[in-house]
Amino acid sequence: MLNIVLFGPPGAGKGTQSQKLIDKYNLIHLSTGDLLRSEIAAGTALGLEAKKLMDNGLLVPDEVVIGMIENKVKEHRQAPGFIFDGFPRTVPQAQGLDKLLQDNGTEISCMIALRVDDEELTTRLLLRGKTSGRPDDQNEELIRKRVQEYNTKTAPVADYYAGQGKYFAVDGIGDIEDIFKALCQHIDALKEKQEEK
Ligand code: AMP
Repeated sequence: MLNIVLFGPPGAGKGTQSQKLIDKYNLIHLSTGDLLRSEIAAGTALGLEAKKLMDNGLLVPDEVVIGMIENKVKEHRQAPGFIFDGFPRTVPQAQGLDKLLQDNGTEISCMIALRVDDEELTTRLLLRGKTSGRPDDQNEELIRKRVQEYNTKTAPVADYYAGQGKYFAVDGIGDIEDIFKALCQHIDALKEKQEEK
């Protein structure tokens, strides 16, 4: 299986690039942000609890997101692979994901990070907020809070995968197609190695 963690701060372009990668490699897209927004739209108890945290730019508890991912991985056992987008966001989530995949006879192939600086992120998210309808994209203070949560809790997840020799990074600023090509280069090299085994 090809299991990719697409990593980067809010506004780095993970959603855009995930969509292109899914089309090219036929993978299942698992975005915890999208799953949580569906729960909110459906008015579930989980959604109501999550909304309070999301509206304040804070992370939802690890066990909640791990549980959602577990259900989805089990639903798609026959898939050629997954793109994890916006997950894992803490080291315990990464450990939970490793365990979950191991129990299902597979593992993370690589993490690829999109590198974008904080100022560019704020500009992009405020712009996205004009059309996305996402309340957490419309307030500069909230955006800074999300970026701060990323820097303190999520950035260490990169070291976790680097420790396993699975971390790559590409420049996330520039032409969408160029960034996509850079991602594909890493993935194709990885697939070749997998096929040699
Ligand atoms: P996103 O769409 O990935 O930007 O996520 C939107 C919001 O959902 C985040 O600001 C968090 O409040 C919450 N969220 C999404 N994914 C996770 C996760 N893996 N762990 C904790 N909270 C998450």
